[in-house]
Amino acid sequence: MPEEIVIEKGLHQLSPSKLAAFVTCPVMFKARYLLGIKTPVSPSMVLGRAVHAALEKLGRFRQLELEIGLPELILEFNEAFKADIDKESIEVKPDEESKLRAGGEALVKVYFDRFGQERPMASELHLDETLINPVTGEAYQRPVLNGTEPGDLGLYGILDSLLDEGDGLVVVDYKTTSRTSADSTIMLTHRMQLLCYAYLMQRASDKPVKALEIRQLVRKKEPDIAVTRVPIPSKLSYAPMFMAVESLLASLQSGAFLARYGWHCHGTCEGYGLCSPLG
Ligand code: SF4
Repeated sequence: MPEEIVIEKGLHQLSPSKLAAFVTCPVMFKARYLLGIKTPVSPSMVLGRAVHAALEKLGRFRQLELEIGLPELILEFNEAFKADIDKESIEVKPDEESKLRAGGEALVKVYFDRFGQERPMASELHLDETLINPVTGEAYQRPVLNGTEPGDLGLYGILDSLLDEGDGLVVVDYKTTSRTSADSTIMLTHRMQLLCYAYLMQRASDKPVKALEIRQLVRKKEPDIAVTRVPIPSKLSYAPMFMAVESLLASLQSGAFLARYGWHCHGTCEGYGLCSPLG
């Protein structure tokens, strides 16, 4: 395990994933984002990324009101899948690979059948906004750490898709998964991510954000899409997000990262080797 903490460039800004990791477990955050420990990429992660690439292509075409057919999207999926398998040097047995490919193609098809004609306002929208204290109006500052230049602390996120429904904007996020999560679970497990997206969008646009929508693409025998829409109240409180930001900055400053054991713990966690009191 590396002794010295190497601050990665990304610590100049926070992101929904970084905040969510810190809230889940500060040691996992430290392992992943300060020590740069990476969990090996699994074939299903590659599958999820390839499905995402196909959906991104669909969104970009539909945003420009261009037609695109299912065969082109399946091709996009397969090319992205192969390129990622090669890049990550993952060994997949041929029968497992064809099973994964068939599962991914089925997900792209089911998505295309349901949302193929939807016209997003933006697809893969990159947003970068300064974090401003909602009470004092002051901009949060980057932590004083080796390798981090002083300056305003930003929040950076990528929105999968953005819809304009006339009476407000809807932020859409895709998740590829092997089983459907209930709406209540989605709202709880993705609460930080949803708050971050709402914050980014409300700072970036004059139009109100009326809802956040998570589309679970579920890999099962009969592939399915489960949609959870979370309405945004006009007076949304960002307090949990800023409490997480402040707690993270305090941990970075003090160097103290507390392990948060729970149902999310597993042997492939990046922080697994750091968190055990028994060594
Ligand atoms: S395995 Fe360890 S580092 Fe990972 S989430 Fe659990 S307590 Fe945190």
